Amino acid sequence: MTTIIDGNAIADRIRADLTDCVDDLVAAGTRPGLATVLMSDDDASETYVSMKHRACAEMGIENIHDEIDPSAPAEVLFERIDELNEDPSVHGILVQMPVPDHVEKRTVLERIDPLKDVDAFHPENVGRMVAGHARYKPCTPHGIQKILAAEGIETEGKDAVVVGRSDIVGKPMANLLVQYGEGGNATTTVCHSRTENLAEKTRDADIVIAAAGVPEMIDGSMLSDGVVVIDVGVNRVEADTEKGYELVGDVEFESAKEKASAITPVPGGVGPLTIAMLTYNTVKAASLQSGVDVDLP
Ligand code: NDP
Repeated sequence: MTTIIDGNAIADRIRADLTDCVDDLVAAGTRPGLATVLMSDDDASETYVSMKHRACAEMGIENIHDEIDPSAPAEVLFERIDELNEDPSVHGILVQMPVPDHVEKRTVLERIDPLKDVDAFHPENVGRMVAGHARYKPCTPHGIQKILAAEGIETEGKDAVVVGRSDIVGKPMANLLVQYGEGGNATTTVCHSRTENLAEKTRDADIVIAAAGVPEMIDGSMLSDGVVVIDVGVNRVEADTEKGYELVGDVEFESAKEKASAITPVPGGVGPLTIAMLTYNTVKAASLQSGVDVDLP
């Protein structure tokens, strides 16, 4: 029997616990606040930001939203970040990526106060995570750790293969898997576009985490029996639907399901956790900045 992992159900449980934390913070005089800044006309970015707003609203997190014309000079964004850094009602700041080409992404990430960096992309927060004392963990890899824990999937001593080495998913995922402690202690291989014989690596794995952004590139023939498959990919492919496309993962679900002991679907697997963990980091940020302790899930 293959378990089809219900990411929505896991995220709902985490959100319910986080809502209790929000209530505790509000009772102590602090309402958590998340500022989102969108400097893009991209459809997908707008959708992601509005999903984040909805999640905040449902939990009682205040959301401050700014839209900056994508053709505006980079300084407009940097000055807005400076204002948000100074605003005590804002505990978390998220600049939706990608930003336009004329805005240097690195400068954006480094401009955000590390204490308000709820995406956990600031070098200080990356460094803390790598050194094993994370302040905030990046949302998608953290969400995947929560999925594995919720499903009782042990990582200790297991062979994990991460396909993808991006700064937002692949690298931090691999890093969390090799840390000491719960959700870590895995023997981890990181694969990317220059990897030779990818199928040999994935076939040797107990846990495969696919984050390449290539539709259905991993199929059942590349997996061993009993493997745990976490599919991070969200890819739009043309389809005969109202929107003209459908979303598929990086894993060919039907054939992978035949091999896997547990697998996340797309949609409804990793995605809901990514947003839940953003609210987690925002609640944690409000707790750290207000000095009010909360019992994070
Ligand atoms: P990036 O494009 O930044 O990184 C993709 C990585 O995959 C790169 O390291 C690349 O290698 C590697 N790769 C590309 N093609 C292959 C291949 N054929 N074989 C092996 N490795 C390959 O993507 P992201 O990490 O930002 O996102 C990955 C996917 O996850 C996307 O579909 C994205 O939409 C989705 N995503 C989903 C989230 C969710 O919440 N569900 C959150 C974030 C992302 P190289 O470095 O050599 O180029």
